Amino acid sequence: MSKFLISKYHELEAYTPGEQPKDMETFIKLNTNESPFSPSPGVVSALTNEEINKLRLYCDPDCTLLRKKMAELFDVTPDNIFLSNGSDDILNFIFMIFCGDEVKAAFPEISYGFYKVYAQLHNVDSYKVPLREDFSIDHKDFCGLNRTIIIANPNAPTGIALTLDQIEEILQSNPNDLVVIDEAYVDFGADSAVKLTKEYSNLLVVQTFSKSRSMAGARLGFAIGAREIIDDLNTIKYSTNPYNINRLTQAAACAAVDENEYYMEKCRIIIENRAFTVKKLESLGFTVIPSKANFIFVKSDKIDGEELYLKLKERKILIRHFTAEKIAQYNRVTIGTLEQMKTFIKAVEEILSEV
Ligand SMILES: *Cc1c(COP(=O)(O)O)cnc(C)c1O
Repeated sequence: MSKFLISKYHELEAYTPGEQPKDMETFIKLNTNESPFSPSPGVVSALTNEEINKLRLYCDPDCTLLRKKMAELFDVTPDNIFLSNGSDDILNFIFMIFCGDEVKAAFPEISYGFYKVYAQLHNVDSYKVPLREDFSIDHKDFCGLNRTIIIANPNAPTGIALTLDQIEEILQSNPNDLVVIDEAYVDFGADSAVKLTKEYSNLLVVQTFSKSRSMAGARLGFAIGAREIIDDLNTIKYSTNPYNINRLTQAAACAAVDENEYYMEKCRIIIENRAFTVKKLESLGFTVIPSKANFIFVKSDKIDGEELYLKLKERKILIRHFTAEKIAQYNRVTIGTLEQMKTFIKAVEEILSEV
């Protein structure tokens, strides 16, 4: 820490991103929920020399073309869509401008680790709502809270999803509070709340191109909600960094939206590979939490969670281990290609036979 950092940031505990090893090609990466598939063909051909030459110019801060295409895809108007540099950027804005001294926050105790970091960064009083014993969210716990509510649906790292009926109950019981549904993983089998944004002016749905759209490295997240909420987010974006979605990302994302069916097909493959992996792990005696995401949360009575993680790493397979006490026996395993999952299962079998 330098002597220049002001005191309110001295205690900040930054988020720890999943490992991105330098010699990445030698690993099977099942640790950060990226897609194992390349972006669609149109994305590759959209990144032309002409587009690269235009990098000398600022990009369109309104992302006009991209918002138009997305509005059609999601059946909303462009004014209902906010775009930013990854959905992390949007979540940061949410904690910055929709929470604060007079507005407290609530999110599940076990959930996306960044919520806690943003709450601390912006000094937001947060109720961390405990999960049930089986890691599911009791949606009634979020009814009538009088706080800004942030829920990942499906939740991370459990993969368990709420139903739209349960989300509607949360919305109806908190009519004067913003309810944020973080749908980073929704395309892998849960129901999206986007259609509820027409009916509920207190709902903001956040999604990302990082997981189901194979563009984690391009950094693009979006939020869909009532125009007033989107306007507030734009005010803060235009007060910090209006050009936060670069030209190449905009071009790539336009092509990706045009080729939506490619991505939905890849999601169907991931769902199949997930079912394959669950079945194999269960036959090896693992406990597998029922997942609607592109990852599964698993533990074995035969081996300690951290030990399994380390032994797989020795075999060049990365999965995600968390140290928080309640989940330390578990690991989160991203679903990759069928070939990757077969290699993973084989390695797990070997490791189990040695302990
Ligand atoms: C991955 C993830 C994000 C962040 O996505 P980016 O768009 O890459 O910033 C947000 N929320 C959850 C629950 C995630 O798992």
